[in-house]
Amino acid sequence: MKLYNTLTRKKEEFVPLEQGKVSMYVCGPTVYNYIHIGNARPMIVFDTVRRYLEYKGYDVNYVSNFTDVDDKIIKQAQEMGISAEEVARRFIAECKQDMEALNVKPATTHPLATQEIDGMLNMISDLISKGYAYAADDGTVYYRTRRFDGYGKLSGKKVDELQAGHRDIRVTGELKEDPLDFVLWKPKKEGEPYWESPWSEGRPGWHIECSVMAKKYLGEEIDIHAGGEDLIFPHHENEIAQSEAANGKPFAHYWMHNGFLNINGTKMSKSLGNFFTVREVGEKYDLQVLRFFMLSAHYRSPLNFSAELMEAAKNGLDRILTAAENLKRISGSAKGELTDPEKDLLTQAEGFTKKFEASMEDDFNTADAVSAVFELVKFANTHASSESSKAFADALYERLKTLCDVLGIIIEKEEEVLDADIEKLIAQRQEARKAKDFARADEIRDQLLAMGIQLKDTREGVIWKRV
Ligand code: AMP
Ligand code: ZN
Repeated sequence: MKLYNTLTRKKEEFVPLEQGKVSMYVCGPTVYNYIHIGNARPMIVFDTVRRYLEYKGYDVNYVSNFTDVDDKIIKQAQEMGISAEEVARRFIAECKQDMEALNVKPATTHPLATQEIDGMLNMISDLISKGYAYAADDGTVYYRTRRFDGYGKLSGKKVDELQAGHRDIRVTGELKEDPLDFVLWKPKKEGEPYWESPWSEGRPGWHIECSVMAKKYLGEEIDIHAGGEDLIFPHHENEIAQSEAANGKPFAHYWMHNGFLNINGTKMSKSLGNFFTVREVGEKYDLQVLRFFMLSAHYRSPLNFSAELMEAAKNGLDRILTAAENLKRISGSAKGELTDPEKDLLTQAEGFTKKFEASMEDDFNTADAVSAVFELVKFANTHASSESSKAFADALYERLKTLCDVLGIIIEKEEEVLDADIEKLIAQRQEARKAKDFARADEIRDQLLAMGIQLKDTREGVIWKRV
């Protein structure tokens, strides 16, 4: 399996630290509002990476944090007239709801920065004692950037060039030894949440949080560290400087970064105001469509969000779901064992799985993996019919389901629908027909069919059966 490593700027063979296991850290959102669909991109693509690794038999320890203390959260708290803690608590719950709707698996651990302060105090103290950090007179602790030899290795930035960029913007009142130094701990301002520390009552800098949470839940050396490409510098560069200086070991072996989700060619972001929340998109589309849309592009390519592309994703997804439904229906009424020609066809169908795997093993090329799924769909539509054996329809369905599971696309219908719910919908359909609203009546019939319920209008009334 090959993946593109931002650190080496090459596609590399993936070799985990420990055979059969993968440790993976994905930087999570800052929770001060509903997440937008740009934030959803890393969630979806790295969840898909995780699912593929699991499909290959790896035991994946997947850690993704919530940044629950930050200037933006504090500002939002002031605006909403509630505590920063309450803002974070609320939007973590909302974010988890969005993740579920996007079929993003919960992480093995979702640590919260505010619950890990002790670890941060320890790492900062450690960095001070090793000479990589210092406390200024006002209680701020800075990382001594130049002290770390490898600084810039992830982003490709040179310390001297960074210095040139900083020359004119030295902020008066800052007590840094060097403009390149970054904050590990900052003293509180009036009314802000704070923790006690040897340097000041204050709170951690953003970068130290991830170094500490990765170390606590995954260890000093990890396999994969991931996030959006805007995090390469300074966030991930600084994480490397902190973790490697503190632990004396290489931090993450593979660094993966997703490209931006754009809108009219510009990065979608809260600050520009050019965003749609996952919630908003969910009002218009089943969020499976959004997931499918995200996977239609390679994760490192920029992806432009547009109504046309969402419609195309919806149509593509519908094609897959319809094929799955057909196979289920055939299986429901067909009987028997595989015939010899069917055995040959199933051998051919293995080719789609091979193509799917080859695409995923080439730096998780989900766009090509999706086309392998479409080929399988076409094959199923061509070869499965009411003449097919049950075993044949089932085998194709299982093959399709396995691939869709890796992509996080659900093709299986909801579990058992309650009789009472069915009766209620049938009654609503009768009402609609009485009111001559035939469009609505048809819509309900289709909705029931999608739930696996077939209606038949008879002289005695409507009868239904599960199909
Ligand atoms: P933030 O809450 O801004 O720290 O972002 C959380 C995650 O979403 C990070 O991994 C960001 O890189 C990622 N992200 C934010 N905006 C976009 C975007 N427009 N496209 C892709 N990823 C994004
Ligand atoms: Zn991070």
